[in-house]
Amino acid sequence: MTTIDALIVGAGPAGSAMAAGLGRAGARVLLLEWAHHPRPKACAEYASPRIVEELTHIGLAPEAWSDEAVPLSGMHLHAGGHAVKIAYADQFGSRRAWGIDRRRFDERLARHAVDSGAQLREGARVVELTHGGGRVSGARIRDMRTRRTETIEADWVIGADGARSTVARLLGVDRAVRFPRRLGLIAHYAGVTDLTDHGEMHVGRGWYVGLAPTPGGELNVGMALPMVDSGRSAELRFEAAIDALPAVAGRLAGSTRISPIRGAAPIGHRVNNAAGPGWILIGDAAGFVDPFTGEGIHRALRSARAAADALAAGGDVAATYRRARRRAFAAKTALSWLVQGFLAIPPLLEHAVERLEARPSATLLLGSALGDCRPATDALSPRALFEVLRP
Ligand SMILES: Cc1cc2nc3c(=O)[nH]c(=O)nc-3n(C[C@H](O)[C@H](O)[C@H](O)COP(=O)(O)OP(=O)(O)OC[C@H]3O[C@@H](n4cnc5c(N)ncnc54)[C@H](O)[C@@H]3O)c2cc1C
Repeated sequence: MTTIDALIVGAGPAGSAMAAGLGRAGARVLLLEWAHHPRPKACAEYASPRIVEELTHIGLAPEAWSDEAVPLSGMHLHAGGHAVKIAYADQFGSRRAWGIDRRRFDERLARHAVDSGAQLREGARVVELTHGGGRVSGARIRDMRTRRTETIEADWVIGADGARSTVARLLGVDRAVRFPRRLGLIAHYAGVTDLTDHGEMHVGRGWYVGLAPTPGGELNVGMALPMVDSGRSAELRFEAAIDALPAVAGRLAGSTRISPIRGAAPIGHRVNNAAGPGWILIGDAAGFVDPFTGEGIHRALRSARAAADALAAGGDVAATYRRARRRAFAAKTALSWLVQGFLAIPPLLEHAVERLEARPSATLLLGSALGDCRPATDALSPRALFEVLRP
């Protein structure tokens, strides 16, 4: 039996960032990943501006990763024949979003966790949590090649295993995703040469398609479609969604799909608690709404920091972490749900986009709040909402 300070399950952005943070502070950390990096991840690969601060916080300055990322001026949002540019600014000026390659980005982060002192074990998964003294005290893990299991005793078990979190399920805290229930489909294209410095979001009736430039001149084409049993394959639904949006079909004319179509269904994850005695959930494992507002990676990194800080503070770690989550995410989550409300009522969204087209300062405020460059409460104020909706 091995005894350590923290067993972190899942080496995505959340798990690797927390492992790096704890490793730098001298903790004994085992980072467990059932895949082998570089591994694919269904993601639209559009990262919001504030990942810069979070990565710097764990010792990854922009020079360490920005050569493998495409700086993007923002996201052009198209709905009902109208278009508005969502850009970002904080108190120091304008900020850029980033087009990334998730395989390389996630691998880079996992290697950084190792360089920071964490032990990474790939090809192994958690099969059972162990309990002792009224708390989670570790886990039984299984090597997926040899099938051998072993018990790891840990002061803290961290569930960073994404939207289908095994740790959340074993803890009994996960809930069904009832709304929105969408199917996420992603593929890479080559040969789109006129979309390199910004992303595009094209909204249909209750669904959307995003285009994001990624390193190497590729374009990520991602979509969130209603989860209906249409009897059609993912491939056919993917092609039909592109054909239904002439602006997207036009962008992709003459290009080539160079990857398989990857999927996630339903997008999102809900839990009724993010921490308890001996356990903490971070990143998507602790809940995720929808990628429309493009904040999943930033939120994963930010929640990793909140959890590492709570462990460092000691005392009632679970309560400290829950409080920190509320402070960091409550307003932003409310804003994300508001945006989901607009998406669910297409005429309302189209009206808002039409209004925003003529109101650059309201648009910048909204974009900056969505990009975590200013408090989400600014965009939720009655005045800001009036600016978006007034005739
Ligand atoms: C279709 C789609 C598009 C998206 N687009 C964007 C976007 O453009 N921008 C953005 O910011 N966010 C986007 N997101 C969200 C973003 O991908 C997530 O928020 C982010 O990956 C969360 O990071 P994480 O570390 O919590 O989880 P993940 O990145 O999911 O990492 C979890 C890790 O745990 C591993 N794992 C899972 N189960 C186990 C287990 N039992 N044992 C061991 N290891 C395990 C997995 O292999 C994985 O490596 C999108 C999501 C979807 C579904």
